[in-house]
Amino acid sequence: MQFEQLDGGKAEITDADFQELRTAFRGKLIAPDDKEFDEARHIWNGMIDRRPGLIAQCSGAADVIAAVKFAGTHSLLVAVRGGGHSWPGHSVCGGGLMIDLSRMRGVRVDLATKTVRAEGGALWGDVDHDSQAFGLATSGGVVSTTGIGGLTLGGGSQTWLIRKYGSTADNLLSADVVTANGDFLTASETQYADLFWALRGGGGNFGVVTSFEFRLHTVGPMVLAGAAFFLWDRAKEITNFYLDYVKDLPDELTTALLHWNAPPAPFLPESIHGQRVAIIAACYAGAAEAGEPVVAPIRALKPAVDLLAPLPYTALQSFFDPLFPKGIYSYSKSDYFDKIPAAMVDDMIAWAERKPTPLSFTHLNHFGGAMARVANNATPFAQRDATFAFSQDAFWHRPEDTAANVKWVKDYWQAMRAHSPRGAYVNFMADEGEDRVRESYRGNYDRLARIKRIYDPTNLFRLNQNIKPAR
Ligand code: FAD
Repeated sequence: MQFEQLDGGKAEITDADFQELRTAFRGKLIAPDDKEFDEARHIWNGMIDRRPGLIAQCSGAADVIAAVKFAGTHSLLVAVRGGGHSWPGHSVCGGGLMIDLSRMRGVRVDLATKTVRAEGGALWGDVDHDSQAFGLATSGGVVSTTGIGGLTLGGGSQTWLIRKYGSTADNLLSADVVTANGDFLTASETQYADLFWALRGGGGNFGVVTSFEFRLHTVGPMVLAGAAFFLWDRAKEITNFYLDYVKDLPDELTTALLHWNAPPAPFLPESIHGQRVAIIAACYAGAAEAGEPVVAPIRALKPAVDLLAPLPYTALQSFFDPLFPKGIYSYSKSDYFDKIPAAMVDDMIAWAERKPTPLSFTHLNHFGGAMARVANNATPFAQRDATFAFSQDAFWHRPEDTAANVKWVKDYWQAMRAHSPRGAYVNFMADEGEDRVRESYRGNYDRLARIKRIYDPTNLFRLNQNIKPAR
């Protein structure tokens, strides 16, 4: 068997070496000529088409240790797959070893401590399902098929609970990690505190997390949430309203503004399907009755379609799932901003009108609240004091639409650079190079590089928004 190595060379794996891995491994080892190979190598983004040398579908931490040691011994190129939602496709490699956690999705809620522990390949739908059975939730992703692994490790800075309960990483209490030399460590505030700090935003740079423990909060099961849709001729008015509205909100309300075409979704009247719209989306993380007066100014604008209503929290968390299935093509870029000047609003409206496919959209997410009351160096995520994140997300179904969509995202993003952005969220970035990674982590990059040197000195875990080990 031949594999790609970290330095670009090739490793010949003998039958004896492979047999050693087989003996230590309980899950599934999937080779390129196995019938499951194609399904297993494909991740969410249809743009990514890579063929690993071997896929190690782990059944638990012991398998992860065996796979990491095998990769380390032979200096193999490694990709770690959690939920497979990485936009740039970091969870699959060409020719190397794909350590696949998709069979590790166990979840256990502990009611006594109000915590949940979930395996490294679990999805947000898994965590929400078990937690909501007890009226509990942690700050998680807004699409139920996104992995908790990549999202938490990148910081988890987009969630409907962010202003009330902080980011996903803020709710992480401990993590079991297999580091580059195959050691199994439990990191928390009191054990391997440097590693624990790095895991709360530093991405998959520091090891393979086999399980995550999160703090839970009382949420729902019904929450006042959803979206108000306005026809495009009001786009500027609604965008300006939004920028003003968010200036004074209680922590309970987390919101976003979208410029989109109303999707052909069953929850929308057919008359609006496909029409350009400005959308204000919101979730009130408190009693629905208390949220009504807070969202009243949005309703007072008389939206064309008003879908802000009490709904089950799990319904909110899977609201967008059907629109973004596995295999869709996607490209995304993003930046944080302290303020959105009037000239930027004009640019946003003009660029939205140039998008090549209706499914593509932008979202402006408002922050502040609990997340902003924590210092920027408390975790690697250094954008806590930013007011907004603004992302250009292109989605399309036909390969012939790729070039136009990628160009639209890149050009739109570039045009926004004129309005003083401050760096991105690593989970909303394409492959944009080392300087962009540094820019995103701001003052925290050098500390991350020093911790990387301790836990992964050879940069075995490099398929991520990579932090190079400090020299
Ligand atoms: P993967 O592709 O499996 O992994 C992404 C990266 O994390 C890779 O580098 C991988 O090696 C590493 N990794 C994954 N699991 C582990 C693990 N257990 N141990 C070590 N390394 C690991 N972000 C938000 O903050 N909020 C959202 O609501 C949100 N919604 C999204 C919706 C969609 C449809 C998509 C495509 C993305 C969304 N994101 C969101 C971005 C998301 O956070 C990132 O794409 C994230 O990397 C996905 O994690 P994953 O485990 O699914 O991805």
